[in-house]
Amino acid sequence: MNNSWLIHAPEGYGKWQVLQQAAAALLCESPGDPGAAAGRPLLPGAIGRRHACGTCASCALVRAGTHPDLFIAVPQAQAGALGLVAADDAAGAERTETKGASQDIRIDQIRSLADWATSTSHRAVAKVALVYPADALNPAAANALLKTLEEPPPGVHFLLGAHRLDAVLPTIRSRCQQFALPRPDGDAARARVGAAADVDALLAWCQGAVHRADPGAGLNWAQALLDAAAAAPILRSAALPPPPDLATGMAALIKVASDLQRAQHRSAALYLPRQQAALDRIASRIPATRLADFGRRLLRRRRLAAFPLNQPLAADALLLEFSQLFAAS
Ligand SMILES: [Zn+2]
Repeated sequence: MNNSWLIHAPEGYGKWQVLQQAAAALLCESPGDPGAAAGRPLLPGAIGRRHACGTCASCALVRAGTHPDLFIAVPQAQAGALGLVAADDAAGAERTETKGASQDIRIDQIRSLADWATSTSHRAVAKVALVYPADALNPAAANALLKTLEEPPPGVHFLLGAHRLDAVLPTIRSRCQQFALPRPDGDAARARVGAAADVDALLAWCQGAVHRADPGAGLNWAQALLDAAAAAPILRSAALPPPPDLATGMAALIKVASDLQRAQHRSAALYLPRQQAALDRIASRIPATRLADFGRRLLRRRRLAAFPLNQPLAADALLLEFSQLFAAS
């Protein structure tokens, strides 16, 4: 039986959480049947069939991050963000992260994984290797992992998660059972951000990526910006609400510009469906070429990560640029 899985979905869909749950369930010493738990299993086959009890010795070891039959390979630079660094080490981890810790999963990590995979199981339930994200395997590490997947040691489950399937070596893909994690729904969003939030607006804004660090960042501001722009006959940047910070403002304006362009093409808004009326009104007041230029400029600047030192000034400039979309030419 093939025990290698490749779970893929865009960033923010919750792959990491799902992979951790699947690992815990495979290792659990008294697993339950997911039918008893709320909702249907997210994952198919053997990895969706059980859920961890949360109370056995194995579950406690998984929670503590010390289970000997669980091997986790992630880029060093992401360990802290993925919750893999104990609180005591958090300060140290932060130091390594700023010192240019690797964004890749490196070959020495995969060599350790291969050694661990051939050693005997400690608790004799199962062994689980978690590799996340598989997009981050550097070429040497990917080839080393492929060798292990080609002759997988018995009893070892390989759980790989990838943001982009095409970023994973085809030979690795073909060794795994593949599964596309579905886009999070309203229940998943509510579980993440609370029932009080407007989850439909949030799901549209983040395009389902509710497991990102701050999925609603910039949403309130973008809504306020559009309301202000739609209401004012002549737009002055001073009358517009300032963005929470430059990076958030930039990312939000890229979505606003995209929805305005969609409105000009008579397509429904992707990110801000609640603001459709304001988008339509505003879009009709901006020349299409000027709007397209604005969108391209924002994307280019984000790609270059060209963030100036004087951020408040740059945020003001961003608003000025937006207001100039409406200027009489
Ligand atoms: Zn358990």
